[in-house]
Amino acid sequence: MDFLPIFLNVRGRPAIVVGGGAVAARKAELLVRCGARVTVIAPRLVPAFEALLASGRVEHRAGQFVSGALDGATVIIAATDQPTINARVADAARERGIPINVVDDLELSTFIVPAIVDRDPVVVAVGTSGNAPVLARYVRERIEALLPPQLGQLATLAGRWRRRVARTLRTVLERRRFWERVFSGPVATHALAGHEAQAEFELRRELKRSAAAPSNGVGEVYIVGAGPGDPDLLTLKAARLLQQADVVLYDRLIPEAVLDRARRDAERIYVGKEAGDHHVTQEQTQRLMVELALQGKRVCRLKGGDPFVFGRGGEEIEALVEHQIPFTVVPGITAALGAAAYSGIPLTHRDCAQSVVFVTGHTREGGATPDWRELARPGQTVVFYMGLSQLRNLVAELTKAGAPLTLPAAVVERATLPDQRVITATLGTLAAEVEAAQVRSPALLIVGEVVAMRAVSGAHGLRRSASLPSALPARAVKA
Ligand code: SAH
Repeated sequence: MDFLPIFLNVRGRPAIVVGGGAVAARKAELLVRCGARVTVIAPRLVPAFEALLASGRVEHRAGQFVSGALDGATVIIAATDQPTINARVADAARERGIPINVVDDLELSTFIVPAIVDRDPVVVAVGTSGNAPVLARYVRERIEALLPPQLGQLATLAGRWRRRVARTLRTVLERRRFWERVFSGPVATHALAGHEAQAEFELRRELKRSAAAPSNGVGEVYIVGAGPGDPDLLTLKAARLLQQADVVLYDRLIPEAVLDRARRDAERIYVGKEAGDHHVTQEQTQRLMVELALQGKRVCRLKGGDPFVFGRGGEEIEALVEHQIPFTVVPGITAALGAAAYSGIPLTHRDCAQSVVFVTGHTREGGATPDWRELARPGQTVVFYMGLSQLRNLVAELTKAGAPLTLPAAVVERATLPDQRVITATLGTLAAEVEAAQVRSPALLIVGEVVAMRAVSGAHGLRRSASLPSALPARAVKA
């Protein structure tokens, strides 16, 4: 981040606007709304200032700008149409160590004014670090549409009760739970509908209930499928529970961009199984999950793809049931579906694939081996998970069981991530191509006639399709 997002308290403090035009008037108005004592320095003011001057909260200092005028100011905005004056204001402000914004001049500014969504006292500030102010406004409009108009009233109500709640509920955890119930239950419903008295009544009742029955100390566990990597593929429920969790247990397949959706102050614990020195076993992960929940925490066990597709989600649930810990399982988009969509390979097709099989390419020592004849059967698509290191072996078994060497096959590396790669070939050539391209895990192997459909759809529209921009592989070795 290039800028530190903060909210500055200017109430009752001196603020200076240099410039007397319409833009300066808008800035002065914003400062007035935040309670600042505003002085406007300009030879003349446009009529837009009239109401502000009449309110008595803006003072006009007529005349040219002199640097001494900035002494003692908390914040300064330069909004003249003369670059030399703006530069002088900026210099003088910097010398005095006072935050300065020069309108439309990132270089001269030490802070920028964000686009805002105002549900006072809730304020959302949107910035693009000066890269794209119009985009910031676009984002603001989307958030405008999202936030209920009465959100401010709900926040005000919470503010009024904050101290009393802090006196009544002793622990941070109890208080957080209480407020979560307030903001997701009938209190919020009433407040957002404008029924203030009822909202307050419900809040009082909720507080009584919480004080009478402090939580029995057991938390809960969310076993959440995070999808194949692109954070946009998180479900709404996954995103919500991530925001709610006190602790997030994540593994190797979870990218930073997904973890960023967790609450800022949530604890993050890496429980990857292939982490070199920090090798964490499945049993240790389960024990940790149980321990944290027994401490009363809300634990989000974040798993790549879907928890129940080669995810050992079943084993984790058994451990939770054994300790009577409440849990929720949230499905995720499994890697095969992500890879298919983002590489443009359909998994079924009327003409050549009536079914699709997901199979692990990594069979446990001594475990059951797959039925190769069944997998080599025509008319289906086979997707191998965890098959990269076994690729030559898998191809050999399939061909031995009757699959032709000319059968199309693909490997999708890091599906749905910005550096996704797709290699398409045939069973006969795939292993060599994959080795030449030095494909790394995670990668999926897709075998079947559908792989050939990719080239067709690629040539006729998919590449140009506006609805599938991320279907374009960053570096397709062979399309
Ligand atoms: N539960 C997960 C699968 C875990 S097994 C799911 O539903 O997707 C791990 C295997 O999944 C990897 O070896 C790889 O074959 C596959 N995989 C997971 N994420 C992937 C990705 N982004 N791209 C390609 N393969 C992926």
